[in-house]
Amino acid sequence: PLTTTDLIEEHRICVCVRKRPLNKKELTVKDLDVITIPSKDVVMVHEPKQKVDLTRYLENQTFRFDYAFDESTTNEMVYRFTARPLVETIFDRGMATCFAYGQTGSGKTHTMGGDFSGKNQDCSKGIYALAARDVFLMLKKPNYKKLDLQVYATFFEIYSGKVFDLLNHKAKLRVLEDGKQQVQVVGLQEREVRCTEDVLKLIEMGNSCRTSGQTSANAHSSRSHAVFQIILRKKGKMHGKFSLIDLAGNERGADTSSADRQTRLEGAEINKSLLALKECIRALGRNKPHTPFRASKLTQVLRDSFIGENSRTCMIATISPGMASCENTLNTLRYANRVK
Ligand code: ADP
Ligand code: MG
Repeated sequence: PLTTTDLIEEHRICVCVRKRPLNKKELTVKDLDVITIPSKDVVMVHEPKQKVDLTRYLENQTFRFDYAFDESTTNEMVYRFTARPLVETIFDRGMATCFAYGQTGSGKTHTMGGDFSGKNQDCSKGIYALAARDVFLMLKKPNYKKLDLQVYATFFEIYSGKVFDLLNHKAKLRVLEDGKQQVQVVGLQEREVRCTEDVLKLIEMGNSCRTSGQTSANAHSSRSHAVFQIILRKKGKMHGKFSLIDLAGNERGADTSSADRQTRLEGAEINKSLLALKECIRALGRNKPHTPFRASKLTQVLRDSFIGENSRTCMIATISPGMASCENTLNTLRYANRVK
């Protein structure tokens, strides 16, 4: 098992994979586990251990990442190895981003927002809340206390290339870029927060706003990117910003042939933004001067996080263990591999 001494050295981009357990539905239809995490940074996709027939389904494939988390790993542990090191970055006047990327149902929201399945909705164990908790802990340290920083939070979603404020009844917001290439989301609510409980309330509020008026919560959230930000300001001026993003499901391939025009357009928009995101992270990792952030609304609003000396990012690729999801899982692993 992982220990804190396994924490990797500082670097700008960290890419990890998280496998979730087989769920009830998969167990009911007797879907089989095709994913093994043989060591703390390796993911293997292979034939199921209990073969159903003699057909060869899969070539064994092995991927290596900064970390690979198996189905027994808790949110707290995933957090410690992914977003936790980035909390320092924003105190150090830097910009941090943490993305959950993967197919719908693979565990993005569980990882970032907390557990929203069933009746006891609990957002206190998600990475949004854990990061907020540590921001307030850090603020109490003498070194940072004397900086006299204020903490703010924003929560918005990007749906079909449009920005909606989740802390303001889904108000539709405009994105403007000024002559100095500063990108601004006009009118975005930035709420001051003084403790973790304040943040939990905002997460709950934003989440209920995100899913309100939808026939199926997942149908909608799978098609939008949710962006939760923790902003540190000193006398009103930006000190550091942490953007935590629950991305739209990456399984949009089928949408491109959908009979419904809206569905096709949404699918194309999601593909475009995930492609742009990959290029922006790669540019950041390679210190390339030109970041193609204008290619999508998602990367445009995150522009200031992809440039600058002290920008760091982390991607958590979430994967389903089942054979039925294998194609999407391989796509997720290949994408994450390209981002490294
Ligand atoms: P996504 O946001 O990627 O569509 P969810 O986070 O909603 O997926 O996860 C789908 C279901 O699987 C939820 O019921 C969630 O609670 C459960 N789940 C996801 N990841 C895990 C995990 N690591 N351990 C246990 N349950 C999980
Ligand atoms: Mg989700």
